[in-house]
Amino acid sequence: MSKKSSKSAECVRVIIRCRPMSEKETKDGHERVVDMDTKRGVVSIRNPKDPSAAPKEFTFDSVYDWNSKQQDLYEETFRDLVESVLDGFNGTVFAYGQTGTGKTFTMQGVKSDPELRGMIPNSFEHIFQHISRSENQQYLVRASYLEIYQEEIRDLLSKDQSRRLELKERPDTGVYVKDLSSFVTKSVKEIEHVMNVGDKNRSVGATNMNLHSSRSHAIFIITVECSQTGADNENHIRVGKLNLVDLAGSERQSKTGAEGQRLKEATKINLSLSALGNVISALVDGKSSHVPYRDSKLTRLLQDSLGGNAKTVMVANVGPASYNFDETVTTLRWANRAK
Ligand code: ADP
Ligand code: MG
Repeated sequence: MSKKSSKSAECVRVIIRCRPMSEKETKDGHERVVDMDTKRGVVSIRNPKDPSAAPKEFTFDSVYDWNSKQQDLYEETFRDLVESVLDGFNGTVFAYGQTGTGKTFTMQGVKSDPELRGMIPNSFEHIFQHISRSENQQYLVRASYLEIYQEEIRDLLSKDQSRRLELKERPDTGVYVKDLSSFVTKSVKEIEHVMNVGDKNRSVGATNMNLHSSRSHAIFIITVECSQTGADNENHIRVGKLNLVDLAGSERQSKTGAEGQRLKEATKINLSLSALGNVISALVDGKSSHVPYRDSKLTRLLQDSLGGNAKTVMVANVGPASYNFDETVTTLRWANRAK
């Protein structure tokens, strides 16, 4: 069986997004070393230290360059996944990549500008629009928001931010986070409010928000329950779950000269990202009978939303500039293996 035709492979899509050069990068005279052929799905990268060498090429399901619009990404890569959640399946979107490459831009975007709104606010619109148009169906939308930092789980919607939550497992419902709060939301406004509360809590207690967000995974979970009276006059309920994950930065920590506590932290971050890579590549490979979900909190927590009938989109974000060459190649390789 070819890689692409295995069932799980159809359910995992890996796409690359490259952000524009920042003003500072342009001003400092950095060169762009990334080229993208969006038609063929090819990313190529030139080694600035070896200009005569042929560029390295990588092929993906789709690639988005610096001109890509948030709305196009939504229509082309996220809409189907959210649609399947509305149909009662689970789905997960990950933003992966080095800090500063556009993970949060892809997931959240610029909230105040409709054109720059990211995947998460667009999914809010989509879900509630779908609900407002549906007839004969009752929907219940609930939101939870958590963070995994150093393999510890924090409920971003809880009043007590010092508390750590545990992962539990039940034979009937599978893996869940014990005591995780969830809020019923009836409109875009309400679910946006929930997200804002969580974002505020996330920054509280972080002495350096950039450092903190680059070292923790933020997971926004939307559960959509739909009940409908069937032809048999019975009430049927289906539940879909949408996990929206802004991952910790994938940069190698050795470069930052981490020591002691920070090195310990870094090791844990890399552990969960490599565990995620192993799970995704086992799923895509389709041949491995063992998918190593248990190797990290992140993959355990998302176990019922990765593989099986669940859809996954992995957005690997990269920067265009020469000084990011090593990290960009590392991300492309990681994503290529996950594909
Ligand atoms: P990360 O979350 O991966 O650390 P951010 O999303 O914070 O990175 O992005 C870093 C900076 O680059 C931000 O100022 C963001 O607005 C900008 N940026 C990222 N991606 C894009 C893009 N596709 N178009 C325009 N600006 C972007
Ligand atoms: Mg970020």
